[in-house]
Amino acid sequence: MSNDQDPFYVAQQCLDMLAEHGALTLPVDVAKVAELCGIKFIVDSVLCDGKYGMSFVLDDVRYAAISPIINTPLQLPLLRWCAAHEIGHHLLGHVSSPWSDELEKQADMFAAALLIPQCLIDNIAFSCTDIFRIARLFCVPLPAAHDWMCEFSEWNSEDYIVCS
Ligand SMILES: [Zn+2]
Repeated sequence: MSNDQDPFYVAQQCLDMLAEHGALTLPVDVAKVAELCGIKFIVDSVLCDGKYGMSFVLDDVRYAAISPIINTPLQLPLLRWCAAHEIGHHLLGHVSSPWSDELEKQADMFAAALLIPQCLIDNIAFSCTDIFRIARLFCVPLPAAHDWMCEFSEWNSEDYIVCS
């Protein structure tokens, strides 16, 4: 896999770009990433097959369509996750490829690496064994925080500390 197809490498490039613009904050500013990458969001589209999002290019403009059913404040973490996932499809060059489980997984890995950046985690003095705190801090869905812990960190599920 070349660097420009590696979800972690490409996500780190986005984080570097945010840092260069003085915009590397928590939670990570997904809208700013899209803006800097020239990706436009459409949130009032009707998506079929129960999909939360889709990516396409029209007249050389990159679009990420997000289902309006998740465009509510209560579902902000899910909205952010879907937006990051669709940005991943664009930046990883998936848009003209047929749908596949592998590309979906790569877009999820990009979303995780972008929204839960290792460089910020390393600077934060708190127990990363608390998935609720991770979800709140990074404004990501709980399952994303959970998966991130299982897949992208060395802690295992038996170490979870659940607190309010
Ligand atoms: Zn996808």
